[in-house]
Amino acid sequence: MRPIRHLAVESEEAALATLAGHPGDAAWLAGGTNLLDMLKLDVETAAVLVDINALPLRGVEELDGGGLRIGALARISDAGHHPGVRARYPMLSEALLSGASVQLRNMATVGGNLMQRTRCSYFRDTAMACNRREPGSGCGARDGHHRGHAILGTSPACIAVHPSDLCVALAALDATVSVRGPGGGRSIPLTELHLLPGDHPERESTLARGELITAVEIPPLPWAAGSHYLKVRDRASYAFALVAAAVALDLDGGAVRDARVALGGVGTVPWRSPEAEAALRGRPADRETFATAAAAALQAAAPLPGNVFKVELARRVLVRCLGTVAGAARGGA
Ligand code: SF4
Repeated sequence: MRPIRHLAVESEEAALATLAGHPGDAAWLAGGTNLLDMLKLDVETAAVLVDINALPLRGVEELDGGGLRIGALARISDAGHHPGVRARYPMLSEALLSGASVQLRNMATVGGNLMQRTRCSYFRDTAMACNRREPGSGCGARDGHHRGHAILGTSPACIAVHPSDLCVALAALDATVSVRGPGGGRSIPLTELHLLPGDHPERESTLARGELITAVEIPPLPWAAGSHYLKVRDRASYAFALVAAAVALDLDGGAVRDARVALGGVGTVPWRSPEAEAALRGRPADRETFATAAAAALQAAAPLPGNVFKVELARRVLVRCLGTVAGAARGGA
């Protein structure tokens, strides 16, 4: 058994100072729904947990001009059911409320969701080879069980899929992540928060050591009021996405003026698809255009034998999600 110190703090200043006082062996504790699992599995070995639950970071604020600011400690359930989130960004509400179980959503936080670790079973088992957990040890999943793993953004070193639903919607919505560290505050585009595995899958994000996520900001996007998040999984609840799509369409009559497309369950990071968006802009909002966009989104897919089915499944999920959003905009869905 390893002793772990629990240090509760009541201000951002105290949080930053406390973490800085334990270099290398401290971690933030918020909802704990992922961290405590990792500690029990010995994948996470922090000796000090800096409990930030008392910080005033739980609010969801509707910003002038139409955007939203969601505090990092907002519970997933609270954010997902917030009237402003539901009205302005349905895809975000749907993504939030499709993750995990009710009990977990009541505990888990928005900031924690952004930083959750992969559910790759080889990563979670310290007896297995895993470059992400132990650099240079190999990747058990490549020649092992990889049905749920990524087909986009993979590398020879790692094929772990990013597990978050929330991050897929945030990627589509051009969200930014507000962080505060010993050197001050900064803002990171969500699409630049997570790192592709490359040769160093152990480097998972662009957060610097000691930085604290304080909020997520979503800019105004009036046409996101008709957006949709479609998640396909092995069972109806408490399961990670096999494939998911987050879509918003700006329609001009029967044509697509602008589009936002991101995919989940297929990428090593939340997967924004500029290729699909380019294939949609200026085209008729019909099934042929949607199929072309889906093909563009999956063009770079590099599946393995166990997850090759995800390529066609992702195409179909994206076409269906695009059709649902377009149909609703026309008043027909
Ligand atoms: Fe580890 Fe990544 Fe391979 Fe999973 S896919 S075993 S996380 S290196």
